[in-house]
Amino acid sequence: MHDTLLQHLKTFFGYSSYRPGQLEVMDAALSGRDSFVLMPTGGGKSLCYQLPALVLPQVTVVVSPLMSLMKDQVDTLKTNGIAAEFINSSLSREDIQAIYQKLRQRELKLLYVAPERLLQPQFLDRMAELGVSLFAIDEAHCISQWGHDFRPDYMALALLKERFPQVPLMALTATADAATRHDIVQQLGLHQHHEYVGSFDRPNIRYMVQEKFRPLEQLVSYLKQQDGQSGVVYCNSRRKVDELASQLQERGFVSAAYHAGMDSDSRNRVQEAFQRDDVQVIVATVAFGMGINKSNIRFVVHYELSRTIEAYYQETGRAGRDGVAAEALMLFDPADIGRIHHWIDQEENEQRARVARQRFSAMASFAEAQTCRRLVLLNYFGEAQQTPCGNCDICLSPPKQFDGTELAQKALSCVYRVGQRFGMGHVIEVLRGSNSQKVQQYGHHQLSTWGLGQEYSHDFWLSILRQLVHFGFLQQDITQHAALKLQPAARPVLRGEQPLQLAVPRLHATSSKDKRRP
Ligand code: ADP
Ligand code: ZN
Repeated sequence: MHDTLLQHLKTFFGYSSYRPGQLEVMDAALSGRDSFVLMPTGGGKSLCYQLPALVLPQVTVVVSPLMSLMKDQVDTLKTNGIAAEFINSSLSREDIQAIYQKLRQRELKLLYVAPERLLQPQFLDRMAELGVSLFAIDEAHCISQWGHDFRPDYMALALLKERFPQVPLMALTATADAATRHDIVQQLGLHQHHEYVGSFDRPNIRYMVQEKFRPLEQLVSYLKQQDGQSGVVYCNSRRKVDELASQLQERGFVSAAYHAGMDSDSRNRVQEAFQRDDVQVIVATVAFGMGINKSNIRFVVHYELSRTIEAYYQETGRAGRDGVAAEALMLFDPADIGRIHHWIDQEENEQRARVARQRFSAMASFAEAQTCRRLVLLNYFGEAQQTPCGNCDICLSPPKQFDGTELAQKALSCVYRVGQRFGMGHVIEVLRGSNSQKVQQYGHHQLSTWGLGQEYSHDFWLSILRQLVHFGFLQQDITQHAALKLQPAARPVLRGEQPLQLAVPRLHATSSKDKRRP
């Protein structure tokens, strides 16, 4: 079987070897096992189901949330000589009938569908009747309320396992923290599944955060250093995108705007011009990026703070796909934090708003981090890393440090004493010896760690706790009101076996804005 696969890999895809994880995931699918695949964008998820689809007897059904991506993938497959089709609302009845005809004659290897189509009873009946070899759920995080891109349509995919218990299911995603990951497995009902979790590190990207003073001037001077190389500047609103794109044009840059408010022709034109290097700088909202296949993007600038680390990571991840050095620059104004909180407050669903706040709090804390940026990102994605990278602004110009071993021990043991069930605010109250009602109610004024750190301010402790999260000694559990949990790496520090250098907290006036954070 492996020989056949390898041959197909060469013939249909033109590759001679597998990327990390691919072969094992394919093996799982071929032997009828469920699998969970977490690979960063560009890691090669599609091949994991496309190649097995060629040798499996019946059709592989791929669930994908975006019509445009579906079409792109199917077009590429067809160009490579693979029998693939998609069904979505853009097709006429006749088109769809023709596809069913092909299915009946077993002419199709891959069928892409949107989740709402998949779950129509007639469609399910058809599939049951014709037989399916594999279900692949792309962007599987859309099923989770903890994920950053929850889509109610995806929820119903839980039905697949009930309806097709014998058919292996492959869930794929690029974005999943521990909570989301767990939820995907639960919701889809994966059974004794194979799990592949790839590394999220993109060593060739240099992460940098600059405090924002005069953003336009800062951006212009940054762009001037880029020697005409390609890049993307992300803003949060369409208005800002239009404004900034024309400001850059006025200053002589070949730039263009891109956002979902533009008609699709204009968007395609901009995207193609960028692809051909006719446009140097794209100023865009989050709408830009899905399906961008440009490998030589040299820089990504965040003109404003993203709402989640997932979004930030995806957007910065578009830089340097070719493996050559690239940069991710964020311009950070602490005042942006309040603006985004205001946005989140518009969300009516209280649970969703709470998750959004917690996710955003991790993002804001990245921007304010005193710890290696890459460590913050990797630990956020659960990759237990403790060695600074040497390729981010913090590593290249480190903040002042001190021996934080003892403070870290106090904080970590306090987290342990309160049962790993409370967030930063409460742990700080206990450390500072507060007599608040909540502290009394839980009897935490009787803990040995109560008042151990009263000589330090709230903000000081906040900085220490955040650094401990960034280093991967603690994690904030978003399913539990951001309760702090000890991670295995914390053990040697608690036992006094590992000294720890921490950054001296920078206590500036703006940190009072943090009051609203969970
Ligand atoms: P993802 O869906 O994980 O973002 P893709 O499936 O789009 O990633 O793959 C990213 C790129 O890597 C594509 O251009 C794909 O053709 C290429 N690729 C995938 N697997 C391999 C491989 N084994 N060898 C070489 N290139 C590969
Ligand atoms: Zn670093």
